[in-house]
Amino acid sequence: MTSCTTVRPEGPEEAYAFAAPFRAPQGSPIRELFKYVGRPGMISFAGGYPSKDLFDREGLARALDAAYRSDPIACLQYGDTAGSPLLRRSLARLMAAREVNCSADDIVVTTGSQQGFDLLLRTLIAPGDTALIEEPAYPAAIQALRLAGANIVTVRTDGDGIDVDALAAQLDAWPQACRPKLLYTVPTFANPTGATLPRARREALVRLATQHRIVLIEDDPYGELRFAGTPVPPILALADACPGGRDWVVYFGSLSKIVAPGLRIGWAIAPAPIARRMIVAKQTSDLCTSPLSQETARHYLDSASLESHLRSIVGAYRSRCEAMLKALTHFAPNEVICSAPQGGMFVWARLTGGRDAADVLKRAIERNVMFVPGHAFYVREADASSLRLSFAAPNEAEAFEGARRLASALSQT
Ligand code: PMP
Repeated sequence: MTSCTTVRPEGPEEAYAFAAPFRAPQGSPIRELFKYVGRPGMISFAGGYPSKDLFDREGLARALDAAYRSDPIACLQYGDTAGSPLLRRSLARLMAAREVNCSADDIVVTTGSQQGFDLLLRTLIAPGDTALIEEPAYPAAIQALRLAGANIVTVRTDGDGIDVDALAAQLDAWPQACRPKLLYTVPTFANPTGATLPRARREALVRLATQHRIVLIEDDPYGELRFAGTPVPPILALADACPGGRDWVVYFGSLSKIVAPGLRIGWAIAPAPIARRMIVAKQTSDLCTSPLSQETARHYLDSASLESHLRSIVGAYRSRCEAMLKALTHFAPNEVICSAPQGGMFVWARLTGGRDAADVLKRAIERNVMFVPGHAFYVREADASSLRLSFAAPNEAEAFEGARRLASALSQT
């Protein structure tokens, strides 16, 4: 009789022989904070979650009902990997309103835009390939690049987003043999800085990407959440004016921040050779995005509910942002310096007096208020004084009370 005892000379961690990026993986630093969010009385400036009070529950219930009644089989059956043709048509109309010229065939529906980024990395990045990313940056983009084994190189930003002159100099000095494959940016109401890249910089970015043959990734979940200032067209819209520019821009859109993240509906608009490969990658990822969710999203978009919903959430975010900034100025006038975003969900702030935001967070959690310390948004060296404050979730009264608690935490640090 043969023995089936497995000999494991090492501890179980080693015995599994994990692939390199998963040997010592770092989880999302923001998701780690979520254990505190449910605590009674907690006021959270931490997550990039849309406000739970502001979901269009009625409108979405009607869309779900209409989707199921009008075509239950389309909701229940597997669907096209690239997405439902009808939803893609509705999304093309949405993109036309954003000044982007595209057809339904140019759109790939993804399970959240996060999946789109992951699929794109699978088609472009082999371990060791260089990827550029703005810094500070969206943590899940950094995490995805790390898991893809990319050589991550950061690009400098200022209060207006990517410093294109610095980037041009960086690219001019780059050795030809190992040029970067892509550049990731959130140009409108960035996560975490809230910054918006001005039009001239957008045009310059397209020119640089085209000249250096770098895929420029425009991640745009927040663009419609403008409550001040003048709208700027997406980079993708401006790419048409640069010869060959459209060949180098990949755009990610999402319904998460403007409708509901629970739908998990995102979309990608990519040059055809890239889109084709992303669809192949998606075939091995989830076969297709939930048809029930896609049909619901399509009915919601086609019912014109989005326009009035956007008006209501943008108004609410404006007053929540103002309330938070006013309260911080009132309670901690000399301790925190805040950015003043024109939309989105985030204020980027710096603590004065050499305070470390991670230390302040510990005191803040004791007082039932939370934020995300800046280190989550840096690839290597972090600015320890920085922090991200989301104004989306707390209402005006909570923003006031949260700022008071934060000031108390600051006074003890
Ligand atoms: N990009 C950015 C900049 C984000 O902030 C988020 C969500 N926090 C995403 C992408 C992911 O969005 P989705 O829910 O569409 O996957």
